[in-house]
Amino acid sequence: MKTAVETFRKVVGEDWLFGPGHERLASYDDAMPIDDPGRYAPYAAVAPADVEQVRAILAVANQYRVPLWTFSTGRNFGYGGAAPRVAGSVVVDLARMNRIIEVNEEFAYCVVEPGVTYFQLHEYLQSKKLNLWLSPPEPGWASVMGNALDHGVGYTPIGDNFGFSCGMEVVLADGDVVRTGMGAMSRSNTWQLFKYGFGPTVDGLFGQSNLGIVTKMGMWLMPAPPAYRSYMITFPRESDLHQVVEIMRPLKISQIFQNAGMIVPWSYEACVTAPRSAFWSGTGPLPEADKQNLIDKLDIGYWNIYGAQYGTPGSIAEQWAIIKSAFSQVPGARFYFAEDRPELVGLQMRNLLAKGVPNMGTFNLLNWVPNAAHVGLSPISPTTGDDATRLYALLKGEAESAGCDYIGGFVVGWRELHNILMFIYDKSDSDARNRVRNTVSRLISKTASMGYGDYRTHIAFMDDVAQSYDFNNHALLRMTERIKDALDPNGILSAGKSGIWPKAMRKKRG
Ligand SMILES: Cc1cc2nc3c(=O)[nH]c(=O)nc-3n(C[C@H](O)[C@H](O)[C@H](O)COP(=O)(O)OP(=O)(O)OC[C@H]3O[C@@H](n4cnc5c(N)ncnc54)[C@H](O)[C@@H]3O)c2cc1C
Repeated sequence: MKTAVETFRKVVGEDWLFGPGHERLASYDDAMPIDDPGRYAPYAAVAPADVEQVRAILAVANQYRVPLWTFSTGRNFGYGGAAPRVAGSVVVDLARMNRIIEVNEEFAYCVVEPGVTYFQLHEYLQSKKLNLWLSPPEPGWASVMGNALDHGVGYTPIGDNFGFSCGMEVVLADGDVVRTGMGAMSRSNTWQLFKYGFGPTVDGLFGQSNLGIVTKMGMWLMPAPPAYRSYMITFPRESDLHQVVEIMRPLKISQIFQNAGMIVPWSYEACVTAPRSAFWSGTGPLPEADKQNLIDKLDIGYWNIYGAQYGTPGSIAEQWAIIKSAFSQVPGARFYFAEDRPELVGLQMRNLLAKGVPNMGTFNLLNWVPNAAHVGLSPISPTTGDDATRLYALLKGEAESAGCDYIGGFVVGWRELHNILMFIYDKSDSDARNRVRNTVSRLISKTASMGYGDYRTHIAFMDDVAQSYDFNNHALLRMTERIKDALDPNGILSAGKSGIWPKAMRKKRG
């Protein structure tokens, strides 16, 4: 390992290799630990400047059998941050590769390197006065590529970030450089316009995976619409969830509900507004009576929808009439536009996100409890009232038993709901960490037994989630492992990512 690290240093230069004892190395550990701090600490970090340096790093890693762990900007908080699944790996920090290679206004796409953040891309579009919007996730400092590769979500109509990627350049473990889709043709001028090219489509192999290092990615952007409006709809009772989701399904499938909006309880607005102590001084989850006081104080619903509209003034007025009439079926529903409620921190943050303006408002939720960290649980369900209420009852009960408030809800996908549950706990409290860890682990198998699979998870739970995708004795995982063995026979790339282990480590799952 020592020889390899010295060789990496020669590849990237003295300033871009952070070896044992370097003060910057600690920043690559998981900043929101669920296990004991240091459980996933890397041995060293190396930051290449370009594709040639990436290839040279891979050659050294193959020579010395060094385990690497790749990320773009490594801010995957709630899922392990920059930390590797295998402690003692060398992390490959791609943040230095941050060129915006192309923005095409006519065809509404960009091509970026891994280190390009939503803030950076937004600033670029603004400075060039380009009439294009992006779809940032809640943290604006996220990498455009890293978020998409981990199947992250933004909140505009193009919020399925991986789904709106088009064309990649990937360096395989042996250093071969592949371009996907139309990019496989060296003279193509449609790399970012048509996803499939000719033959099997392989882009999906590089999302949530360890089969290559992505060095360029095309992303479709959204032309800024002539008119935009964001809104909040509040529903007074906990039991309204079933009806709200039933109303939502046809509206979303027909794109009258246009964006990746949210159906969330009181806690989503509360946790970005003030610490929990502002609403209740006790320990453990808020009692029901105090929840109601909080709801009354903030003047919100038990459930709230955040949504947005895009089009012409005429088209959004017509759509609004349909949306309003549909949700008015729920007794007590109230309707607000973002400008009606400037005091609501969550609504204002979502208004920015839904028009593609990156911000960091979400990090207010880390004030909810002292020393806060969070870990996510994200089962996918059909958009039905039965599924939503079944999952909500289970997850709320389990979160509260673990001493946490139910800070979760539903991101509205095209035909499914991402049930996002954020366990927010005091990371300095090992009992709290253990309680949450056991609960998440139990919930992964419990929700799987009910038919709900997690779409994404923290490094600590990757094997649990991979095991829950069990059709035909884990045939999909077995197929991916065969591809892994073929492309990365020395097993140097991100061992254990998404439960995919190289052959030599496969027995050591868990
Ligand atoms: C309060 C809070 C709110 C959040 N809200 C959201 C949200 O709304 N939506 C959302 O999606 N996420 C959310 N997150 C999670 C996370 O912050 C974002 O998803 C963020 O985009 C991930 O970090 P990153 O962009 O630095 O990605 P990275 O850490 O760079 O990448 C994530 C993973 O993708 C893979 N990867 C990245 N780059 C490459 C590459 N070049 N080649 C091969 N594999 C690669 C790696 O496995 C890596 O671990 C939230 C987190 C917090 C703390």
